Amino acid sequence: MMSIKITTEPVIETAYSVSTNSYPIDTIRKDFPILSTELRGRKLVYLDNAATTQKPRQVIEALTAYYEKENANIHRGVHYLSEQATLKYEQARHKVKEFIKAGVNCEIIFTKGATESINLVAQSYGRAFIRPGDEILISTLEHHSNIVPWQMLCQEKGAVLRVIPMLDSGDLDMEAFDRLLTAKTKIVAVTQLSNVTGTLVPVREMCRKARDLGAVTLVDGAQSTPHLPIDVQEMGADFFVFSAHKLYGPTGVGVLYGRAELLEAMPPWLGGGNMIRSVSFEKTTYADLPDKFEAGTPDIGGVIGLGAAIDYLQDIGLERISQYEEMLTDYACARLELVEGLQIQGSPRARRGVISFTLDCVHPHDIGQLLDQDGIAIRAGHHCAQPLMQRLGVPATARLSLGLYNTAEEIDYVALRLQHSRKLFLS
Ligand code: PLP
Repeated sequence: MMSIKITTEPVIETAYSVSTNSYPIDTIRKDFPILSTELRGRKLVYLDNAATTQKPRQVIEALTAYYEKENANIHRGVHYLSEQATLKYEQARHKVKEFIKAGVNCEIIFTKGATESINLVAQSYGRAFIRPGDEILISTLEHHSNIVPWQMLCQEKGAVLRVIPMLDSGDLDMEAFDRLLTAKTKIVAVTQLSNVTGTLVPVREMCRKARDLGAVTLVDGAQSTPHLPIDVQEMGADFFVFSAHKLYGPTGVGVLYGRAELLEAMPPWLGGGNMIRSVSFEKTTYADLPDKFEAGTPDIGGVIGLGAAIDYLQDIGLERISQYEEMLTDYACARLELVEGLQIQGSPRARRGVISFTLDCVHPHDIGQLLDQDGIAIRAGHHCAQPLMQRLGVPATARLSLGLYNTAEEIDYVALRLQHSRKLFLS
């Protein structure tokens, strides 16, 4: 059993212990070359995982191997390299399907990222099926990526955007959700895990209720996918999106999962090569799923890299990662609360991996810069969630976000340096 002891002395660097009987933290850390980097004479402490995660050697090697030995364009080639690249690309699709427990491979569409996946649904499903007066329901917790595409759609279609409010705890107001969800609601689009408060949202219950009323659901898994085992069928989501780069994979690649029946009914969004069956100047017919939604040459190496990231995570086990990170999140909250003047934003029923905070006398940007001097990478700002900042009543927060390689020692170090920074500002 893993155990993390919490010290009550806020400034003692080593008065804790982490025993990780079943979690191979040392091996994991060695897999990430960047973690042995020194910054300003200090070992890097990387706690900006909600922005992007670091990449293990296994992913870097998969990318290098592709470019060194297998690089070719996919699908249209008749030569060996093209066949190999196509095989690897399609194998990655299968790995994603298994990873999120989709029904069939063609329900997995590769995009540039979670943002593009949401835009694809808004532009394809939304343009085809949303009518004036229809309602689209999102929540206060959303990242701009899950707000703006719906606003654009509403503007174009004369539809109405409704917002599920947040309670002071950082949880969604589920009674308000029940009231806002009506026969007029055609799409419910919510995050599974807030990139600001770390709130875990009860998406399964929300998807069930939405489906009962005939609304289609989109779950934004950009933040949840690295922290939780995902089962889109059990969740009951019609669409589910995530980005490879937040999942220890490369930038430039994302996934849209959609139930085959819905994807079949949707018109293509981007037009071009690969997404057609036949083209003439009079008429074009479209390819079957998933090609219909993958116009042009995709990021082949990136997709293969995502496949390697999934292999890596499956080898460790998402359940194990999730348990470790849950413990680390609780530890980090408890530890940060010991820093005088520090206020954690929200105290949701369930939180994972992400903690936003303010410090009474130090602006979040100054916190970020001061910690940077100590080799610590966190993020400060509005985190692409300005409406949520307004709800919290702060212009910005400092945000610490955990990954599978972080340790309680790193959290203690951050707490210590925060305490120190505060003293500096007060003196
Ligand atoms: N949704 C959430 C909750 C996020 O945190 C982010 C990025 O931080 C996104 C969507 C957008 O992800 P990407 O920029 O990789 O498309």
